[in-house]
Amino acid sequence: MTESITVLGATGSIGVNTLEVIAQHPERYSVFALTGNRQLKKLAGQCAEHNARYAVVNDAASADQLTTMVAERRIATEVLYGEQALKEVAADTQVDIVMAAIVGAAGLVPTLSAIKADKKVLLANKEALVMAGLIFMQSLRRSKARLLPIDSEHNAIFQCLPSSYMNGDQSGVSKLILSASGGPFRSWSMQQMDSATPEQACAHPNWRMGSKISVDSASMMNKGLELIEARWLFDTPVNRIEMIVHPQSIIHSLVQYIDGSVIAQLGNPDMRTPIAHGLAWPERIDSGVRELDLCEIAGLSFEQPDRKRFPCIDLAYHAASAGGDAPTVLNAANEVAVDAFLNRRIGFTQIAEVVEETLSQFSFSEPDSLQAVQYSDQKARTVSDSLIGQFKG
Ligand code: NAD
Ligand code: MG
Repeated sequence: MTESITVLGATGSIGVNTLEVIAQHPERYSVFALTGNRQLKKLAGQCAEHNARYAVVNDAASADQLTTMVAERRIATEVLYGEQALKEVAADTQVDIVMAAIVGAAGLVPTLSAIKADKKVLLANKEALVMAGLIFMQSLRRSKARLLPIDSEHNAIFQCLPSSYMNGDQSGVSKLILSASGGPFRSWSMQQMDSATPEQACAHPNWRMGSKISVDSASMMNKGLELIEARWLFDTPVNRIEMIVHPQSIIHSLVQYIDGSVIAQLGNPDMRTPIAHGLAWPERIDSGVRELDLCEIAGLSFEQPDRKRFPCIDLAYHAASAGGDAPTVLNAANEVAVDAFLNRRIGFTQIAEVVEETLSQFSFSEPDSLQAVQYSDQKARTVSDSLIGQFKG
């Protein structure tokens, strides 16, 4: 019997990499459902190639278009649309594994649906955990779901930690250390970053990724989101999570032990490694990634992150320490600001300004339900939108 997989966000960078790994192991994995938002032709092609039972898109018009494409290809995929359909393909009794690879807050509800249905959930969609950390982890604890980190840093830490750590025994470990590449603007001045274009921000030196996470890497908000992601995934206080800039992206993160040992996970920068790890865990499968050649790499270097030039790092530390819905607000403001930057409505360095100003307009409280999280998320989006309007004027 193969394991049946739903890929939420199949048309994105993580989705495509996931399908590549799955295709190498037809004896182990089969596709149940694929979901996508805008790239309908690509989704139709994926459904044909992987023989998907269901495809899910966002609205009725896209569903009509996709249905036509599916009919032209004479494939049996059934086309559905809307949030309820996303929840259903994530929770269907026939599904074993759900890859959560929708970008942003839109991924939260279907990911929670997979958790509540006790699936093996592969989490790439860090924003879902950042915005709703407490209720996300409560849902996980109440379920029989297994959550496996796909973000390369968190996947690395998961591989470097003793299994007892995940069961609450944190003795022996002193720190989690997140690697950061530093992004495309690692050595740029503030003035240079002021006039940075979306194309420059998306030109990541080591990873090819979707545009939102690429901009987050350029501003280093990505590392800030990852700090909050690690805080929840590993139930570790933020003062025991550090960041180090490592431009080669070969060491994906490290765990420091109290006896002086440091355990790191290394590999070529290719998301198929953490994806294969999550898919097969606790076994190992071939990911298609080239073997690491340390002599070819020759040198690994490290530096402190520059918190002055990358103010998003401190914004994330502050939000993480403030707790409650501060990370929800941080994440929402960042999503709105990154979108405005990608649409050339604000400059690159204004992303951090929008986030900071939005955070300053809130007094934080603990959201105790999904509705409360969504309320804070929406409110923060409204505030950020209006700030961006003022910036332009
Ligand atoms: P992407 O932009 O390439 O793909 C996003 C996917 O989400 C697409 O399939 C798109 O159709 C879908 N989507 C977007 N908006 C949607 C909406 N409103 N409703 C439903 N579906 C929607 O992004 P990506 O680079 O693949 O990243 C996906 C997630 O994985 C992000 O949360 C990112 O932070 C995380 N991640 C990515 C990488 C990477 O290497 N790309 C690494 C670590 C973590
Ligand atoms: Mg990462």
